[in-house]
This record gives sequence, C-alpha cells and structure tokens, in this order.
Amino acid sequence: MKTYRHYIGGAWVEPSSGEYFDTDNPYTGEVWAKIARGNAQDVDRAVAAAKAAFEAGEWATMRPTARGKLLVKLAEIIERESERLAELEVRDNGKLIAEMSLQTKYLAEWYRYYGGMADKIEGAVLPSDRPGMLNFTTHEPLGVVAMITAWNSPLLLLAWKLAPALAAGNTAVVKPSEFTSTSTLEFMDLVREAGFPDGVVNCVTGMGIEAGAPLVEHPDVAKAAFTGSDMAGQKVYESAARKIMPVTLELGGKSPNIVFEDADIDAAVNGAISGIFAATGQTCLAGSRLLVQRSVHDALVARLVEVASQAAIGDPMSMDTHVGPVTTVPQYEKVLRYIEIAKRDGATCVLGGKPYTGSGSQGGRFVEPTIFTGVTNDMTIAQEEIFGPVLSIIPFDTEEDAVRIGNDIVYGLAAGVWTSDIGRALRMAERLKAGTVWINTYRAVSFMSPFGGFKRSGQGRESGKEAMMEYMQTKSVWIAQQMATGNPFVMR
Ligand code: NAD
Repeated sequence: MKTYRHYIGGAWVEPSSGEYFDTDNPYTGEVWAKIARGNAQDVDRAVAAAKAAFEAGEWATMRPTARGKLLVKLAEIIERESERLAELEVRDNGKLIAEMSLQTKYLAEWYRYYGGMADKIEGAVLPSDRPGMLNFTTHEPLGVVAMITAWNSPLLLLAWKLAPALAAGNTAVVKPSEFTSTSTLEFMDLVREAGFPDGVVNCVTGMGIEAGAPLVEHPDVAKAAFTGSDMAGQKVYESAARKIMPVTLELGGKSPNIVFEDADIDAAVNGAISGIFAATGQTCLAGSRLLVQRSVHDALVARLVEVASQAAIGDPMSMDTHVGPVTTVPQYEKVLRYIEIAKRDGATCVLGGKPYTGSGSQGGRFVEPTIFTGVTNDMTIAQEEIFGPVLSIIPFDTEEDAVRIGNDIVYGLAAGVWTSDIGRALRMAERLKAGTVWINTYRAVSFMSPFGGFKRSGQGRESGKEAMMEYMQTKSVWIAQQMATGNPFVMR
C-alpha cells in the first residue's frame, strides 16, 4: 500500500489533520493507496508557498526564456516517464492502456508548446492621440492560480492549465479529484526534477468541499481554473464572484453527433462509437446524443449495434480491450440509474442496458455499451449528462431540425457533423452553438486548438494561443515626454 502526502513548497508534507483516504483500482476494486485528506489549513500552507514563490526569489525574477526552457525540460521528462504515468492512470482510473500510452506521451506537447510561447508574448506600443505621450502595454502574470481537476483525465486536464499558467509566470496550487489523485502527485516529482523552484507548483489533495472550496475562496488566490461538473463549477463561479476573481471553467456536455443521409456511414458509425464508448463514455466531449437523419436511421442503427456489440470489455491493461471499467462507485451507480430512467421514459434499449459481469470483468465496475433508440430530445437521457457508455439516438428529418435539436440543450461543449456536402458542413459549423465542431471526425483535440464551452459548458478556453491570455493581465503604461503644465483639474 502506497501513502501519498501533500506536495507543498517542494516537500512532501503530512496533512494537518493526520487523516488519509483510500483510492482503489476500478478494475479490481482493490484499495492500493492512501491519499492525504486536505483541509483549509493545508490549503493555507500551499497558497502561502505559492505566493512566496510568486513574489520573491528565483521564479519571481526569472526571464520568460528561462521559464520556457524549464517547460521544455519538463516535456522531455514526461516523454521519458510516459509509460509509468500511463500505467498509473490505468490503475487509479481504469483508463485503457491502449489510449493512455499515447495520451501521456502527447501530454508533453502542451508543455513544449507553451514553453515555446513563454517569450513570445509581446505588448504593443499604441498610436497615441496625445502629443508628447508614449503609451505601451505589457502582459503580466496573475499570481497564485488554483487548479482543480476532474477524475476522468487528471494529467491531461492539468496540462491544459499548468503549462500556460507557468509559461505566463504564475504559480500554482493543484487540487486533483479525490478519486484519481495519484498521477498528479507523482507528476510533482517530475516538476521538481525539471528544475522549477520550490513553491512554484504545489498539490493539495482531498475532497471538493474540504480542500477545493477553501482553495478557491482563499484571498491570496488570483484565479481559479476548474474542470468538473457544472454544479461544482457554479459553486466555484459564485466564490470567484465574491472575490471578483477571473475563472476558467471547463464543465459538462451533452454533445450532438449529427449524421446526415449523405454521410459515409461506416465512418459515421466509427465516429459515433469513438464519441460515446471511448474512455467508457467518461469524457466531457462525449457525443452522447446521436442525431440521425430518418432515411438512414435504421441502417445506421443496425451497423452501429453490430460494431458496438463486438467491443471487448475487460482488463484496461490489455492492449486488446475496447471498453474499461467505470472509474468511481458513485459514477457507476449514476450510469445504471440513468439506464433505468431511459427505460421508464419509453426509450428502446437496443444494446446493453445492464452491468457487465462476463469474462474479464473481475471485481470491476463495468457497464455494457448501451444504445437507446426512440429517444426524443426532451427525455431526461437526452438532456442530462450521464458521463458513461450510454448513447441516445434521436431521429431528425431536415437540416433545420438537426440544428434545432442539436442546439436545444443547456450545454455547448462540442458537436459532430457527418456529411459529404461541404456547403452543409460549413452551414452546420456556423449554426451549432458549441465551442468545438468536428466535421467527419470526432474527439480531435490538440495543444494548438482552443477548447472550451458555449453556454453552461463553461467559461474561457484551454489550449492554443488564447489560453495563454487566460493566465495574464494587461497593463497600460503612459509616459509623458515633457512635464505637464496644463490645468490639473481637467482630465486629458
Ligand atoms: P466534480 O465537479 O464532482 O469534481 C471536479 C473537481 O472539483 C474535483 O477535484 C472535486 O473535488 C472538486 N470540487 C467539487 N466541489 C467543489 C467545490 N464546491 N469547490 C471547489 N472544488 C470542488 O466533477 P467530476 O465528477 O470529477 O468530473 C466529471 C465532470 O467533469 C463531468 O461533468 C465532465 O463533463 C466534466 N469535465 C469537463 C471537461 C471539459 O474540458 N469541459 C473535461 C473533463 C471533465
């Protein structure tokens, strides 16, 4: 059994309460590590360390080029350690090794990209309408950034926040999900090895209310970058509003994946499957509402069921597994609850619809890949985020219908469109209210491409150039070339 403490000021420290909680392997149900149970006192210590590192010492005076080099060094260390990190995500999270061994290598790109950007953020000299005045802008870091992440992709969600925040010169206190803290904690050793000064990155673990909330509320925290449910995101937003503090919120989704009759049906079926069954449906960007044009509905459903029913369910450490376990006990219960709601509401279950207990399931929390047809967009399973391997298929007739149904939801994280008509593809991209629109593909994300939500799916963007500015504030500097002698009571 491994025991993990908080990482504060460059050292591993005991939780002030002395308390720890268990983390288990979703595949076996076996408890394999103990995690420090943080509280407001631990948060105080971590924020103090981050504040001290921001205000004085090596980091406070480090030039952007040097910060960039540290980030690039971290990227190299991540690549070296990627296999170990991947195995850790599998053990703690139930993620597939087939996906994680690619993702943990790819993580490095965020650190490399923002490392390169660190010394390319330029202010401007503005054309002045005042004779004898020079006006220029600079972009400065914010200070201590609270980074709170969800359990589904701990290291990826952290990279989206940490890489731009550090490139901009901020310091960080990270609070990973209580369900999957270990990869983030192990990552702290890599940060230290890369040479980041003590206190620049800190990690406090624990429950949302006990450690996350005091972190967001802390008076010395200058920004919160949060990934999680819209319910918790709303709480974070409320706390931030009380302090007039900026936030980035990456929240839930209920994304439409829309198949037109002129689509390549095999490609669309692949996209539908990757949209809902990859990562066992536990992704914010899941294409959980499959909108299918009525003329191809039956043929597509038949093909989809045929392909999805061949998914190999079982050991996430096997390269041949397609669907792994559900990560947490509450999530497992929630997915099964939604399946019952769908049946009660009159949707037709054409695949799955129950726990998987067949070969390879061990003691794991498995739900069969589940497909419902006959879903209308006002049903609970079409409107609420399930965050599991449950697909709702909704028929539509015209392009106009597809837009209306696609947008008829509180969320706006992503959307997919399958069509061979380029005009239609562009019209749909314009009309769908979502932060990301994929045409004839699904689930593509990159360090270069801004990602984030419209509507209740969030605030702000992660990745790409835009994310860098989420961690900076602009200062406007005015210099008079000669001393002012005019009327001091009149604004000029
Ligand atoms: P969650 O909201 O329960 O928890 C997320 C994090 O917030 C955890 O670290 C938790 O401890 C913390 N937290 C909870 N309450 C808090 C509070 N009051 N103050 C501060 N912190 C608090 O979400 P989850 O179940 O871990 O993750 C699943 C959700 O995350 C889904 O809704 C999913 O769509 C969303 N998600 C979004 C994105 C995105 O990029 N948009 C990516 C991944 C996951």
